[in-house]
Amino acid sequence: MTYVIGETCLDVKDKACAEVCPVDCIVGADEDRMLFINPLECIDCGACVDPCPVDAIYAEEDLPPEWARYTALNALYFEDPEAARREAEEIRPRVPGPA
Ligand code: SF4
Ligand code: SF4
Repeated sequence: MTYVIGETCLDVKDKACAEVCPVDCIVGADEDRMLFINPLECIDCGACVDPCPVDAIYAEEDLPPEWARYTALNALYFEDPEAARREAEEIRPRVPGPA
């Protein structure tokens, strides 16, 4: 099992979860719009859930059905970050900022 970060993290990404993770398995680069949980390293402790201000983190089996693709998206990030960025963009395109 693993915990999974879902859609409400997009463009919030305040990293509160990463600060409490005991195994440092929640990561994201500057150019990422959200953070991702490494499913191979997550120890299912649940510590990251409460600090999240937008309720983005769920145990895999409790993930809201409309966020089902985020399980694979979190895992994909650790194999091919560029592909994960493209998929996040496809799921919810970035809103252009002021010119
Ligand atoms: S459940 Fe625990 S180990 Fe897994 S990402 Fe959250 S804080 Fe880290
Ligand atoms: S605490 Fe929530 S909003 Fe903040 S980076 Fe983690 S998952 Fe994203």
